[in-house]
Amino acid sequence: MSTKGDIRGTREWAVAEINCSRGCTHGCLYCYARYDQVVRRQLVCDSEWNRCLDLQEEVEKLHPLYDGQVMFPAAHDIIPENLESCVKVIKNLLDAGNKVLIVSKPHLSCIQRLCQEFYAVRSRLLFRLTLTARNPQILKIWEPGAPGYGERLMSLRSCFERGFATSVSIEPMLERMDVVAMVEELLPFVSHSIWIGKMNKIDSRVVAGDAVIASEIKRIRLEQSDEQIKCLFQELQGVEKIRWKESIKEVVGLDLATEPGLDR
Ligand code: SF4
Repeated sequence: MSTKGDIRGTREWAVAEINCSRGCTHGCLYCYARYDQVVRRQLVCDSEWNRCLDLQEEVEKLHPLYDGQVMFPAAHDIIPENLESCVKVIKNLLDAGNKVLIVSKPHLSCIQRLCQEFYAVRSRLLFRLTLTARNPQILKIWEPGAPGYGERLMSLRSCFERGFATSVSIEPMLERMDVVAMVEELLPFVSHSIWIGKMNKIDSRVVAGDAVIASEIKRIRLEQSDEQIKCLFQELQGVEKIRWKESIKEVVGLDLATEPGLDR
């Protein structure tokens, strides 16, 4: 049952969200950060959003020791163009003693650089790599500028084999019927958790720009109906590393988190 103090979204994972860029080249159709900064707050125009610009003040900022796990980044991604800025921010967070959750649709070259740079402090890092589907056609439509599944899987393996704590986010799940098989493929390289969640607020965040996208939206809606979510919950019951985001907890009747950053 939900209560007033319920924790939603990334607050389930972290007590603070840190960013150092504006915009993202991955171009995900469901992107909350783009909706927030382009449509809602009009901080940047659409054409600029698809570039990724450093926010120099944020890159240089010294951070306090937060009272729980910190997420980086939350409103952009780590891409070759901003990699060195991201390294600097993560270093600043770690230097202050923080435990950092790195969330990314990973580029293998970026992940390798991060693993190399932060190997000695890996006990305070947790990688959460976003793998939303395996089907290349679906990924091309929904996440047109992001690395494909193969590169993301290699990135996950790379972190795991170097002894980093690893986790996966299947949020939003883009192909419900393949989730169980994808989880089976990913589990050997996951030491921490696999989070699963629905696509949220489709009406306000996703523009049905053409017939292909409109048909995809329809498919996603059907695949994340309450009935389908309950089936998925049953299919994955007993898989110890599975965690359900609040969009699914609400459907299956699990309590929502009441404190931020618990990450469980
Ligand atoms: S990777 Fe994240 S920030 Fe970048 S477009 Fe996709 S959802 Fe938005």
